[in-house]
Amino acid sequence: MINVTRPIVPDMEVFSRYLVRVFECARFSNAGPLVEELELALTRITKANYLHLVSNGTVAIELALQAGRIKGEVITTPFTFCASSNSIERAGATPVFVDILPDELTIDPDAIEAAIGPDTEAILAVHVYGHHCRMNQIQQIAEKNGLFVVYDAAHAFDTHYDDTPLSLYGDATTYSFHATKLFHTGEGGAIETKHSDLSQRIQLLRNFGIAGEGVHLECGTNAKMPELSAAVGLSLLESYRTEKVRRKELSNYYTHRLAGIKGIRCDQRFSLSGYYFIIRVEGGASVRDELQARLANKGYSARRYFWPLTSSMPLSKKIIAPGGLSVAQSATDSVLALPFYGCLDRERVDEICRIIGDFMGWLK
Ligand SMILES: *Cc1c(COP(=O)(O)O)cnc(C)c1O
Repeated sequence: MINVTRPIVPDMEVFSRYLVRVFECARFSNAGPLVEELELALTRITKANYLHLVSNGTVAIELALQAGRIKGEVITTPFTFCASSNSIERAGATPVFVDILPDELTIDPDAIEAAIGPDTEAILAVHVYGHHCRMNQIQQIAEKNGLFVVYDAAHAFDTHYDDTPLSLYGDATTYSFHATKLFHTGEGGAIETKHSDLSQRIQLLRNFGIAGEGVHLECGTNAKMPELSAAVGLSLLESYRTEKVRRKELSNYYTHRLAGIKGIRCDQRFSLSGYYFIIRVEGGASVRDELQARLANKGYSARRYFWPLTSSMPLSKKIIAPGGLSVAQSATDSVLALPFYGCLDRERVDEICRIIGDFMGWLK
């Protein structure tokens, strides 16, 4: 089976040099030298004021909300991976789902504004497939209403918005460094913020709430990144850039091959960050699902990413905005992520596109 992605793998020699350092000082966790080195490197790349590594991208969102003391309603998108919505509940807050923009697939700023009520405390917006939300508009709304903003940038590491680093928007920006993301540490994540008080709280909360020996300030969690994960990240600091260029070429190739197939739309904005290649299939969920099954039969794993909407998932408290989620529903019923990684053979891509073309032609 050809998978939807293939993680980049560290060069064994480069990785061994980091491994030797871990073994020699017998330090495996607790803000060790490799975590510090990776934090410094990522701070430079993302131009963040403060960046803290954590154990994964889900806990990154949860800690960002907790650091901001958010317990009320959080306006968010249902068109995302379940981690975004779960972390709102896990932080003790209530997600309020609003609709998305039809072409950009990110949260609709007008829908945010319409959903603001007396209990609204925050906005959790997602840079879907690395395509940035309308941050200028979102920040204006947040400032006018005194709302805390977290951006889930799990798909947007090392991207820029109007030449401005992402971390300068909102109160916190979070990343996932899971192996399926472009740059990764196996499992891992990071939180960026421009506020020093928030940065201190994040460090406290990721380490049980301990400020020093016997000094327990808060009920925190254990969200520390291990040294071995940092070693993976440090070994990939060069190669993720090469991989991104190769995926850009692959995205061009796919777009060229799929051009002209009736009922298939692709938008290269969704591959710029190097994470996914997404097509939208016309005709409703059953057609899309049948195409997915057809590809699977021929050995290609395409994924309905994101499906279903997170607003339909198990959450103990949730609110669906009165405006409804019809745009998000039609997005989730049409998207399909195709196999996308640098070393994917072009003959494979040709075959994938041929299967899609035959299927859509047959449909007509
Ligand atoms: C992957 C992902 C996360 C969470 O990442 P983990 O590191 O796997 O916990 C959060 N949000 C989105 C949109 C993601 O795709």
